[in-house]
This record gives sequence, structure tokens and C-alpha cells, in this order.
Amino acid sequence: MRHDQRPVAIAGGGIGGLACALALAQRGFPSIVLEQAREFGEVGVGLQVAPNALSVLDALGVGDRARRDALLIERMLMMDGVSGETIVDIPCGPEFIARYGNPYAVAHRADIHGALLDACRDHPLVQLRTRSRVIGFDQDADGVSVHVGAPTDASAGVSARADAAGAAPAFERVQAAALVGADGVQSRIRQILIGDGDPFPSGFMIYRAVIPVAEMPADLQHPYPTLWAGHDTHIIYYPVRGWTVFNFGATVRIHDRPVDESTEAPLDEALAACAGQHPTPLRVMRAAGRFRRWTIRRRDPVDNWTRGAVTLLGDGAHPMVQFIAQGAAMALEDALCLAVMVEESAGDFVEAFRRYQDIRIVRASRVQAMSWMMDRLLHAGGVERRVRNSIFAGRTPEDSYTRLDWLYQPPDYVRAPRT
Ligand SMILES: Cc1cc2nc3c(=O)[nH]c(=O)nc-3n(C[C@H](O)[C@H](O)[C@H](O)COP(=O)(O)OP(=O)(O)OC[C@H]3O[C@@H](n4cnc5c(N)ncnc54)[C@H](O)[C@@H]3O)c2cc1C
Repeated sequence: MRHDQRPVAIAGGGIGGLACALALAQRGFPSIVLEQAREFGEVGVGLQVAPNALSVLDALGVGDRARRDALLIERMLMMDGVSGETIVDIPCGPEFIARYGNPYAVAHRADIHGALLDACRDHPLVQLRTRSRVIGFDQDADGVSVHVGAPTDASAGVSARADAAGAAPAFERVQAAALVGADGVQSRIRQILIGDGDPFPSGFMIYRAVIPVAEMPADLQHPYPTLWAGHDTHIIYYPVRGWTVFNFGATVRIHDRPVDESTEAPLDEALAACAGQHPTPLRVMRAAGRFRRWTIRRRDPVDNWTRGAVTLLGDGAHPMVQFIAQGAAMALEDALCLAVMVEESAGDFVEAFRRYQDIRIVRASRVQAMSWMMDRLLHAGGVERRVRNSIFAGRTPEDSYTRLDWLYQPPDYVRAPRT
């Protein structure tokens, strides 16, 4: 036998967990994805898919499917939400594509997640299980015993009483060669490995909405995301799903005020929260009408994600604010890097996870830290706003590309499996 045929257990079937399962399967390693929810799916609508993310999707063989309903954007635009002037305008045409090997896309989250899910369903080496909440694990030299409890949270749609009555297995152990915690920002595996408490509220929340194209102001329907950087707020909107709807998000500094995520927010509340913004994005906000509220959580980078044959990836390892739209991209890169290291270590998971962490930790932590540093640029007021604008003034596309090379050019482990 070439290697341990017990599966790798993957806690969480989001973009990171599914990409990991697929990348392992393509290299001959079986996995079992344990997802707590009743169904596989994604929360939210829009996703910016930068070229480094598309390169991973290509390497996984799902790039064409992911691009099918995505919009390949013409430019990246950042406007001053106080004065209305253009701050950043980066063309994403042929020169950009040639430089990074891929365009910049915006997509519906379900399209990206769905592309990975279908490929996992089609692969005989991937087992997919829902209503399977990972609650713990034991590890010894022989592998990992993963403790799976019945889901008890609202996201799984199952109550504790129903579990006790036998509607779902109350407890089970899954024997695995290794365990990957791809269980998101509230990662249970991280709690056990690192134990650094809950991710803290970042001091920001987001008002999210979906605007049917018929209700979106016609003069603001552009083939690219428009980001309005205001004092303590930023607003972004872009079309998804073949221009049928626009994704809308207004991020607002709230300090430590609590956020009610269980009810919808009315327009008046969202308008008041963004009162200083330019009239143009507020027209889009009015078209949206009602909003879901969402707390933005974050952590600072840590220097370890791994213990033996157990490791973390994606938001479990390095949850970040969405200010440079790279969280899912980092989860995809993690997933592929991890699988490549497992292949190169011939199934020695302890060695593979050590190498994976070593390769990924600086890049992912840099993106995590940079995302948070963008607070200063995106939400500047007073003289800081003018300083920000002067920093970007006069930049040519080439200047911008030079600054983005490290991020958008795919790392060398982003490659298809050897055939
Ligand atoms: C408002 C907003 C906008 C964003 N925009 C972008 C963007 O434009 N581009 C981008 O690249 N990124 C963006 N991100 C970040 C991106 O959404 C995340 O980084 C990405 O989804 C992380 O993927 P993941 O697979 O690590 O975690 P998740 O997507 O959170 O998946 C975790 C999965 O694990 C499951 N789970 C949790 N606990 C358990 C358990 N104990 N047992 C079993 N299953 C469990 C969950 O149900 C879930 O399915 C944005 C984030 C936010 C909040």
C-alpha cells in the first residue's frame, strides 16, 4: 500500500474544507468531510475571487465551472466616500491577466462552493457527511480518533432534544489518519489546539443586502465592484449571478456596541449608520431597502496551527477582516498547499503538516495583518483621509501591479496533481 488508507478527517465543509478534500483526493488520499450543518452551503452572497484564488480553483480542475457564472471585472475602483473623487483605479484587463495568470472575478458564494461540492461528490475518495459536529479528538502515534457529536446549534437545524430522542447520532468516533480543522472563525479544533478563546469582535459590523437588478439605479450598474471609503464606514456593491442581482455591503465602525444578527435592519438604521457617506452609494443603499446585520470578528496572527497530525486551515487558522477580500483565497491556498505537502511527504501527516504550516504561516499571517491595517486606509477621516488620498495620488497601473505581485501571483505549490 502506498500510504495509510484511513481517511483524513476534515472538520467543516466550507470553501476551505471542500478544497482540501478535493486536493487530497486528486493525490490519492481519502478524506471524510464532517460538516455540522444539515446541508452543505455558504452564508452570504458575494465573493470577490482574486487571481490567486482562481489559480487554486484551476489547479483543482474547477476553475471553468467557477468562472461560468462569475463576472470577470474590468477594474478595481476605490472612491472617496466624503468628496466623491476617485482614489484608486486599477485596470484588470489583458495586462493584469497576463501578469497574474488569471483575471479578477466576482461571484456568488454558492457558485464557488457549489463547484467544489460537485467535484467532491464526483470523487470516490471523498466522503461527505452533514449533521456531524466535531467536538474533540484524541491523538496517538497511530492516528486521530475524532469525536463527533450531534449538531445542537441553529445552523444545523436540529435541536438538542431531537438529538437526545435519537434523530441524529449523539456521539461517535471516526478513526482517521489525520485531522484538519477547517471549521471556520469559531473553530472548535482551534479551541483545543491553541485555546485562545473566542475570536474578538473587530469593532465593525456589516449591513448586507441583495438588490435585484431591476431595482438597482441604472447609472450605477457597472461591470466591477465600486468601493466607497468613508469616515468609519465603507460601502461596496457589484453584480453577481449573470447580472441578475447586485451584492451590497456597508461596513460600519460600531466599537463595542452589540449587533442583533437575528432580525433584519430597516433602511433608516443603515442610512443613519452611514450618514457621512457620499450621496451616490446611499442611493444604492436605498435601493436595497432591508439588511442583515453581521458582526465582523478577527484574531491576530499566531505562530502555531498544528499539533502532530492535527492542523488548521482557512478561517480556523487565520480569521481576518474582509477589508482586502482574501479570506476565502487564503483558505483555498492553504488547502492546496496542505495536500501538496501530504503528497510530497508520502502520507507522513506529521511531517506534511509541519511543512504546510512552515510554508503557509508567513503569507497567510501577512494577509491577515494587512487586512486589519486596511482599516486605517478605508475608514480614514479628517486629515488622515487627505493623507490617504495623497499616498495613492498619481499611481500608475504598473505601480499598483508591482505592489500587488506578492499577493496575486500564485505561489509555486499552486499546481495541478502529477498525473
Ligand atoms: C462580509 C464578508 C465578506 C467577505 N468577502 C470575501 C471576499 O470577497 N473574498 C474572499 O476571498 N473572502 C471573503 N471573506 C472571507 C471568507 O468568507 C472566509 O475567509 C472563508 O469563507 C473561510 O472559509 P473556511 O472554509 O475557512 O470557513 P467557513 O466558510 O466558515 O466554513 C466553515 C465550515 O465549518 C462548519 N463547522 C463549524 N464548526 C464545525 C464543527 N465543530 N464541526 C463540523 N463543522 C463545523 C461550518 O458550518 C462551515 O460550513 C468575507 C468574509 C466576510 C465576513
